[in-house]
Amino acid sequence: MSTTGRLAGKIALVTGAGSGLGRASALRFAAEGAAVAVVDLDPTAAESVTTEITTAGGHALPVTANVSSDADSRRMIAETLAEFDRLDIVFANAGINGAGNAADTTEYEWDRVIAINLKGVWLTSKYALPHMIERRTGSIINQASMGGLIGLPGIFPYTAAKGGVIAMTKQMAVTYGPDNVRVNAICPGTIPTPLVYRSRVDRGAAAPNTDQAVLDADAAARFPLRRLGSPDDLAATALFLASDEANWITGGIYTVDGGRSAF
Ligand code: NAD
Repeated sequence: MSTTGRLAGKIALVTGAGSGLGRASALRFAAEGAAVAVVDLDPTAAESVTTEITTAGGHALPVTANVSSDADSRRMIAETLAEFDRLDIVFANAGINGAGNAADTTEYEWDRVIAINLKGVWLTSKYALPHMIERRTGSIINQASMGGLIGLPGIFPYTAAKGGVIAMTKQMAVTYGPDNVRVNAICPGTIPTPLVYRSRVDRGAAAPNTDQAVLDADAAARFPLRRLGSPDDLAATALFLASDEANWITGGIYTVDGGRSAF
């Protein structure tokens, strides 16, 4: 475990850490010296990322929790505090895709996406905040999306949730700034992960057996930097916001999208 890294001595919790952007961030946080609570709905994925961290010499705790449940969110913070005694960094990253447009999205789909992508982001920090306020230190990072900034067809409930995350982040930053708790959001552009592939199929943009690499190449042409992102691109920004280098940054909405939302 690094004692000189950018997060040396810190305790972090990452939700949705079993895959994609959450996994890359959990690994990066651990490589920079943080002990990490690896939270995921999928217990096997949480265990697997925990093993990756510990095999590399880091400290990690697997936690199975559904971020859309108040009881689970309370328990995941309690388990983390029981293991590590404190909590410095919360990355509310867990999320799902959500397909449809305003005229055809079902109430079921709306409720499902809002429960995980909006309510789940709130609940992730709800039970960490009293602890951070008491210690007068903390960095909360909320995972939003480029879809919360610009209109992208076919992902209506997802867009609504991510726009809500951006607004919620600003409200939390203003509220808890006097307690020295920082709250920022990241808006990633397209980064190939299982979520992106599911989204394409659910929106009807790809058949289940489509070669996703071909679609990735097509999509890359719409980005000023002419490539899609990598999970490590995202983890680098999460690391910065988590670290003391961002000590005077709160209420920020950070695009990590190859310039896509600048159009
Ligand atoms: P992913 O599907 O690879 O990983 C998501 C992880 O979250 C999975 O391990 C899943 O088991 C977990 N999860 C799902 N629902 C959960 C719940 N209710 N409670 C706890 N864990 C749960 O997806 P990803 O691409 O890594 O996405 C991570 C986040 O980044 C999401 O919030 C997503 O909206 C956001 N995002 C992704 C992209 C992208 O292009 N990949 C772009 C913008 C925003």
